[in-house]
Amino acid sequence: MEKNNNPIFVTQPALPPLEEFTGYLEQIWDSKILTNNGPFHQQFEQALADYLGVKHISLFANGTLALMTALQALRITGEVITTPFSFAATTHSLWWNKIQPVFVDIEPETFTLDPEKAEAAITPQTTAIMPVHVYGNPCKLERLQEIADIYGLKLIYDSAHTFGVKVKDKSLVSFGDLSILSFHATKVFNTIEGGAIICPDKKTKKRIDYLKNFGFAGETTVIEPGINAKMNEIQAAYGLLQLKYVDEYIARRKTVADTYRKQLEGIPGIHFLDDIQEVHHNYAYFPILVNASEYGKSRDELYEELKRNNIYGRRYFYPLISQFPTYRGLSSAKPSNLPVAEKIAAEVICLPIYPELALTTINKIMNCIKSYD
Ligand SMILES: *Cc1c(COP(=O)(O)O)cnc(C)c1O
Repeated sequence: MEKNNNPIFVTQPALPPLEEFTGYLEQIWDSKILTNNGPFHQQFEQALADYLGVKHISLFANGTLALMTALQALRITGEVITTPFSFAATTHSLWWNKIQPVFVDIEPETFTLDPEKAEAAITPQTTAIMPVHVYGNPCKLERLQEIADIYGLKLIYDSAHTFGVKVKDKSLVSFGDLSILSFHATKVFNTIEGGAIICPDKKTKKRIDYLKNFGFAGETTVIEPGINAKMNEIQAAYGLLQLKYVDEYIARRKTVADTYRKQLEGIPGIHFLDDIQEVHHNYAYFPILVNASEYGKSRDELYEELKRNNIYGRRYFYPLISQFPTYRGLSSAKPSNLPVAEKIAAEVICLPIYPELALTTINKIMNCIKSYD
């Protein structure tokens, strides 16, 4: 429960019970094994694979290093088609690999990469497509795979928002050639910092495990210039505990989302996304779109009004990645190439959502939205 005047942020991390964690810490203190694929790392990797219903997972220190390593593992070069409507790390991971990002517009219903526009942007230099299941909304999985197959492209999903999301009972992270998770403190499931790559088979996992440990394939064998992207034992122990509680976290998020939807229904100019049939959502974010002419105030005016009331929504994802100084000169970054993404970025605001968000706080947020004139 929040105290009355505390600032309300867009998210608040869920932490496991401290007394349970200290038990795990005592084991680490006894073993003195702090990192390098220790016992908690191995246990957490297996438990996570079981939870997500996948066979092979490689844990990482954070999601960005997982993205960068995934591109290395598949030897992606040239151009990669991606979405501008995401967090900076999606495109930055390409840039760090000297890959040219090619921005393609998103779909108005789910804000995910438009497969038809992606197909139209393929050139002889294209080697992969990197879509994002933004806010945990599944991309058009079948169509994207079909395009990747026809053109011989790799399909790498930035699944940073999708922990626990299932499509027809199948984990969303099991699609594509590789899928990347983030366990950052702001995500549905956190290990403080952390991430993972979901691998299709044992040999791909092995290669990725080498790459995240400097390229070491044995005591004296270094297969290629890898990086240090290993998750440590304290993160892994914390993650193992988090797994026990994550279903409860998601259930409480759903209650918050349901409450928002009920209360926002019928407010002119405020639009929100509904749940999708056959998708088990994780309620990672609660984006609303503010149509200024119908609502009477712009998105930014509402954002400022919330701030005046100590409520800090976030304009995810504004500005678009394509508007960052490094990328805005690219021809694919032109606003005329990305009309849907530009419109959504101008109207979106994510309302606070987290397991411990109190009903009284939701009511306070709703009062700001409803009575703002
Ligand atoms: C959080 C996030 C990342 C980066 O993950 P970190 O664990 O913070 O490095 C990448 N992509 C998207 C879409 C994200 O939201």
